[in-house]
Amino acid sequence: MDKIVPHNRLTFGDAECDAVLRAVRSGRWAQGPCVEELESTLARTAGVKHAVCVGSGLAAIRLALGALGVRSGHHVVVPAYSCVALANAALSWGATPVPVEIEETSWTLDAEKCRSLIESTRARAVIAVHTFGAAARVKEIAELGAPVIEDCAHAFGSAIAGRPFGAGAQVAVLSFYATKLIGGGEGGAVLTDSAEIAGFVKSSRDYGDQPADAHRMNDKMNELEAALVLAQMRRLPQMLAAREALAMRYLDRLSAGDEEVFRLPARGKGRIWYRFAVKMLRVTAERVVSDLGRLGIGAAVPVTDWRSRGEQAAPIADRAYAHLVSLPLYPTLSEQEQDAVISAFLKVCRDYEHA
Ligand SMILES: *Cc1c(COP(=O)(O)O)cnc(C)c1O
Repeated sequence: MDKIVPHNRLTFGDAECDAVLRAVRSGRWAQGPCVEELESTLARTAGVKHAVCVGSGLAAIRLALGALGVRSGHHVVVPAYSCVALANAALSWGATPVPVEIEETSWTLDAEKCRSLIESTRARAVIAVHTFGAAARVKEIAELGAPVIEDCAHAFGSAIAGRPFGAGAQVAVLSFYATKLIGGGEGGAVLTDSAEIAGFVKSSRDYGDQPADAHRMNDKMNELEAALVLAQMRRLPQMLAAREALAMRYLDRLSAGDEEVFRLPARGKGRIWYRFAVKMLRVTAERVVSDLGRLGIGAAVPVTDWRSRGEQAAPIADRAYAHLVSLPLYPTLSEQEQDAVISAFLKVCRDYEHA
């Protein structure tokens, strides 16, 4: 059936539409004034010296790894529960992604497990993700010795423990894919204090008028995307506040639900509410998605397992893939829509009590 409440809905208005029209009329397509303005806005927001825009989040990770010197035969630590883009970025250099166990509740990299795998694989880099907006232990992980890439696709525009998201490690990356926290259709960025890293990414994103080199693809950001992302950056504080208010409402209204059937996400002071991921204790997330779908509610299994057999055991990640379900959470979700989600979710959960 058609969804009464979709899992995702984009947030945009006249500001985004006008921005795109202005960009088209400017006659500039690739890396013009909008990209430049976006780069200074992003750098200012994270409090870092350089931001370099690229064509996607995957491109941002790939070029950040390249800037850190990752090449064929190297190992890159990634969270066992993460977007396959991270693994693909490592593979693109001929490096091997090493999935490492995550922590229960925050679903971010386990710093202790990281330590032993960095040592045993002599990893060249670690990618830490603020999964669903919960802060990863970037500082602790950075102290383990390998350079860290802070993936801020799910968390940007505020600070945690006095440090803005994106300023916690040598380099940070962003994705502006349509359904991310900041949606620009497509796009990504690399943030860093290092002139060397920024220079590598800048020189790598565009093959035009440059020497032949296998790592130079077409990773430019275009002006339309930059115009959209700039408009989104202006409404970011309101978008974050709307997400937080809805998340608090979910927590309040679902907290009386059966602790035997599901576990709510942790409040986590300072976190960002990109996704509201609930852990199902008796049924799979897939079953919940299909049961809610029949009631007209869009839910999703938020991350798909990409790992191959034979890798280090990661039972918490295994359970996260199978049992985390994402409920609708976006700035344009109305309270009435959210009430419909809550009552449908509590209804299906009653059926799971004896599952
Ligand atoms: C989506 C995503 C990416 C990849 O970004 P694209 O712009 O889709 O290439 C990387 N990391 C995380 C955490 C993501 O959610």
